[in-house]
Amino acid sequence: ARPVVAIVGRPNVGKSTIFNRIIGDRLAIVEDKPGVTRDRIYGTSEWNGKTFSIVDTGGIEIDAGDEIMRSVRAQAELAIDEADTIVFMVDGKAGLTHADEEVARLLFRSGKPVVVAVNKVDNPGRIDSIYEFYSLGFGDPIAISGSHGTGISDLLDRVVEAL
Ligand code: GDP
Ligand code: MG
Repeated sequence: ARPVVAIVGRPNVGKSTIFNRIIGDRLAIVEDKPGVTRDRIYGTSEWNGKTFSIVDTGGIEIDAGDEIMRSVRAQAELAIDEADTIVFMVDGKAGLTHADEEVARLLFRSGKPVVVAVNKVDNPGRIDSIYEFYSLGFGDPIAISGSHGTGISDLLDRVVEAL
């Protein structure tokens, strides 16, 4: 079977936006309101001659209080089960959060390859915002912008390297 890549992260970090850019179509639902992804969506992509399935693990995200962590934890566990490689997406504008650290612990314990993608680095002048994410323990974070489409080729290089 095809290798599976899952995108995991808190609500509103830009998972569906990046998923859409990677599959080159607008199948996933992107909402301006935080925490609205209706479905778990699968696509297929190819990079550097490797074909893989990609999963937008949004699920039903409820962006309120304890519900956030419950849904993010559940999607991380699903991703750990089914993915060969995990893209752990964080928000470079919001910075590192407690929820990010909790997801990181789950992912770390799984032993699966994890690539940290720092989204919303919309301006090359904001590259410094990636540094705090080294503390997550997954090596070099990759700066990306779903709005501008920058950094996605670097991200995919790292992802397929691990497949
Ligand atoms: P998800 O909940 O993680 O799937 O996040 P979405 O893809 O639905 O995006 C959440 C919000 O962040 C939407 O308003 C997007 O337009 C916005 N967004 C996504 N990527 C970027 C980015 O690179 N820069 C900025 N400034 N906003 C972004
Ligand atoms: Mg989403």
